[in-house]
Amino acid sequence: MAILGVLMGFFDFLKSLLGGGSTHSTGTYSKSEVAAARSSPRPINNNPKCTEPTCSTPVYKPEHTLCYYHWSANASAEKAHARLMDRSIGHHKQQAYDRLLSFLSSHMGKPLEELDEQGISQALGSGIRMTEEDIKAFLESPTTRGLLGWTPRHDHSGQEHEENEWAEHNEVKWYRPVNKPGPWLRHG
Ligand SMILES: [Zn+2]
Repeated sequence: MAILGVLMGFFDFLKSLLGGGSTHSTGTYSKSEVAAARSSPRPINNNPKCTEPTCSTPVYKPEHTLCYYHWSANASAEKAHARLMDRSIGHHKQQAYDRLLSFLSSHMGKPLEELDEQGISQALGSGIRMTEEDIKAFLESPTTRGLLGWTPRHDHSGQEHEENEWAEHNEVKWYRPVNKPGPWLRHG
């Protein structure tokens, strides 16, 4: 039953990826300024006003362009976007996927290339009692689909052309928007 524990650990890990990830933001408030701005978010002074339309809060320091509120809203939007755009497959993530995929392959007695969605779905449901929701999330994950060879790998960098990235895989052309998160899409 050790395999079950390991695989359930994998799903906790997989879920944590949706909320996790670290990025560096490019804001203008230093840590100490954030603390100071938090305790006194609306300084009454002659600093220029926040450049966000309709906002009339003065910025915290003359060299800032946004008030603390808008700077932090902006910084977290940037962070969230960077997290969504992170297509890398780190060492731990790769290991976790490898473990699960080799379980599937041996459970079904087939090489990875021959696994299909239905078979995987059954194996995960009956073999390790994964919920339907988790199975769906696993099968829809662009990382999974790339590792199974159904699409180019999610961490593959394609050739950029205008707004899209292009790659060839199994004699088929694939593309995806450069600045939007999402899986590789089949072309034609
Ligand atoms: Zn503002």
